[in-house]
Formats: sequence, structure tokens, C-alpha cells
Amino acid sequence: MSRFLSKKYDRLKPYTPGEQPRERKYIKLNTNESPFPPSPLAVKYAREEAERLMLYSDPECRELSAALAKELGVLPSEVILTNGSDEVLNFAFMAYCDENTPAVFPDITYGFYKVFANLSGVPYREIPLTEDFRIDLSEYPSEGTLFIANPNAPTGIALSVSQIEAVIKANPGRMVVVDEAYVDFGAESCIPLIKKYDNLLVTGTFSKSRSMAGARLGFGAASEAIINDLTRIRYSTNPYNVNRMTAAAGIGALRDGDYFRENCKSIIEIRDKTAAALRALGFDMTESEANFLFIRHPKISGKELYLALRENGILVRHFDAPRISEYNRVTIGNAQEMQTFIDTIKKISELKI
Ligand code: PMP
Repeated sequence: MSRFLSKKYDRLKPYTPGEQPRERKYIKLNTNESPFPPSPLAVKYAREEAERLMLYSDPECRELSAALAKELGVLPSEVILTNGSDEVLNFAFMAYCDENTPAVFPDITYGFYKVFANLSGVPYREIPLTEDFRIDLSEYPSEGTLFIANPNAPTGIALSVSQIEAVIKANPGRMVVVDEAYVDFGAESCIPLIKKYDNLLVTGTFSKSRSMAGARLGFGAASEAIINDLTRIRYSTNPYNVNRMTAAAGIGALRDGDYFRENCKSIIEIRDKTAAALRALGFDMTESEANFLFIRHPKISGKELYLALRENGILVRHFDAPRISEYNRVTIGNAQEMQTFIDTIKKISELKI
């Protein structure tokens, strides 16, 4: 840290992204990326758009907004496009939290929420998940802006739309932000509710189910007034936040709906098969509706398993955090990767359990 850094950032603890190792070829099950390549149409459009990189991108992303709105069943004026969903989440902390309006989120959830709150210099309250890692909305205070990842990370457990709707309805004076980064792997989307409630923002991403983590494309869906708030912040930071190649790839991905649905179906099937194989080996886990499993073995510590897998060329995510240090989060890879994962686990368990 230099002596010039503003005081407001001197205690900021940045988010720690999952490892992206270069020293060796690992099976990467640690950052919830898709094991499948992006749609060939997304690649084709991005390639063609590269010819026009001398021009700024369209700050309104009109073509992509129209295509995405159609896909989501909303109006183009009800969506905002961002550089990954991290960006729209950051905008939401900037727009809807302040010293009198704390951010409220579970104690175990996406680690970036705390970072965004600190970056914006706003207070936050963490509400403990239940013993079995569920969000109990009746435990939540009635004030502050609520951030709910649905499904939650790293547990993968989802709330139903009716459970979330009850909170939105009972608290018309507070904003509720539902982060649906993993919704396409089996949970229900709250997007239809934006037509009914003006205190709801739903965020989503092309990073996971549409295999575009490296392109950085996220979005928010909400009433026009909320989209206008977020757009105001977007135009005050970086109006060209979605680059030309990414916007083109997004249009290609949306036009290739069959490819997207097939991939989601495969991931769900591989997840359920992997879960069954792990249970047979004595693991317990949360009921995940995401593209990852959150697993624990009664006889091998979370850290030990993480290190043993790493030694065997497989990366998973271990969080050295209270309540969850016995667990590992395992991203669902392709069928072959998950077979290798299970075979390696068997080998490790023979040695260590
Ligand atoms: N929300 C959750 C719960 C996540 O796990 C992630 C991915 N790390 C994001 C949002 C952000 O993803 P992206 O910026 O790639 O859209």
C-alpha cells in the first residue's frame, strides 16, 4: 500500500478469486466455470465483431438488450447489461445501501457481498444460516437492503420463488436483490416478479450456464425506475462496460438456446450422478441446485481432502472460514472429469480413511 491511498480504502480486504494455476494442468473444479465451450454461434459472432474493435461499443447494447429481454420475458427497458454480474451487484450496493440502509445477507454466502459493502463504505449485517445451512427469512430484520444468492453459494441450496416473494411483498419499503448466478441448474427464477414489485432487482450472468465466464457478461432485471438508477451509476463509471466482442457473443449465445439447454441438462445429470457416487463413499452434502456440490466426509478434514486432491491434479475450492472449513465446494465438470474425480477420491479414501 502506498502512502497516497485514500484512508477510505486502507482497511479494504479484497475478494480472493479461486486459483487459476499455470504451473501444472489441473482438472479445474474450483471456480464454477462450465466444462463446455461457449456456443459455436457465440464464438463466430465474437470473431466477426473483432474486426470492429476500433469503434467503441454501443453503450446501450441495444441489440443484446432486446435479445435478452425477449429471452427473460421482460422489456428492454427492464434490463441492464454489465461486465459480469459482479458489476451489477456492485452498482446495487452503491445505489441501494448507505449509512442508514445497511446491506443484509447471510453469514455464509457469496464472499463478494462483504467486499462490495466495504468498498461502498456502508454497514452490513450478516444473518446466520440455520444449522443445516438454510436461509431462514423469518430471522431477517425488516430494514436494510437484502441480498440473497438463489441458489446460495457455496451451499447450492435454493429458496422457492414463493418464499422470496413473501419477503418482497411484506417489505415494500426495502430493496431485495436476488442473485441468480446459478439459477439455470434447477432453481426457479424470480424475474417474472419484477412486473409486480418495484422493490426487486434480479441479477444474472452468462458466466456459468452459458459458458462465458471469460467474456464478462452479466445483467440485472427490474422495474424501469431501478434500471434507470443503475444506468445512472453505469454512465458515471464506464458507459462502455460491455465490450463489442462480448456483446456479440451474448447475442450468439441467446440465439443458440438448444445448446444452452442441453448443457444445463448435462450438468444437472452429472451433478446428480456425482452426488450419488459421493454419498456411496460416505460423504454428506447440501441439496445443491447449482453447478457445484458442497461436500464433507466425517473421517477426512476439509483441508486434508483439498490438499490430497490438489496433489492428484484436481483443484476444488476450500474455504478456511468458520462453520464451513470441513467442506469443499466441487464444481461439476464433464462426465470424464467427474469420473476421474470419483476415482481419485476412492484412491484418497483408501489411504486416509
Ligand atoms: N454471484 C455469485 C453467487 C457467484 O458465485 C458469482 C461468481 N463468482 C457471481 C455472482 C459473479 O459472477 P460473474 O461476475 O462472473 O457474473
